[in-house]
Amino acid sequence: MERTLSIVKPDGTEKNVIGEVLGRFEKNGINVIALKMVKLTKEDAEGFYAVHRERPFFGSLTDFMSRGPIVVMALEGENAIAKVREIMGATNPEEAAEGTIRKDFASNIEENTVHGSDSPESAEYEINYFFNALELNGAS
Ligand code: GDP
Repeated sequence: MERTLSIVKPDGTEKNVIGEVLGRFEKNGINVIALKMVKLTKEDAEGFYAVHRERPFFGSLTDFMSRGPIVVMALEGENAIAKVREIMGATNPEEAAEGTIRKDFASNIEENTVHGSDSPESAEYEINYFFNALELNGAS
């Protein structure tokens, strides 16, 4: 069993596809173990994406991620990190496979609807960024 962190990004909540994103994970055997809606400040978004702070799009990305509510969820399942990223599709929706979340809903490479941790180390950092032990308590 593996845990990962996913986010329905501000464009996803604006497009009214929270349930659609959640449903695609659930249908693929991924369990939701913690869930909430939050609105990040610019500083919150900068902390979450700290690994990207040298990237040219950091300012724009953190403006986007703090512009409206997001839904954050801790997920669990076999090979959850890779499976969630497969269900999400490539970062750039123009390169995303048919049937993936980003192919179906993303607007562009930045407003790409969904986030998923890319390694066990980032999953741990990201889950702990949003959820405390009490909130994760119901999980196996
Ligand atoms: P991910 O793991 O597929 O989410 O992709 P990355 O870790 O490379 O990038 C993190 C997030 O930054 C992406 O999901 C996009 O929202 C955004 N992003 C990535 N590449 C670009 C880019 O070239 N331009 C812009 N504006 N945003 C980007």
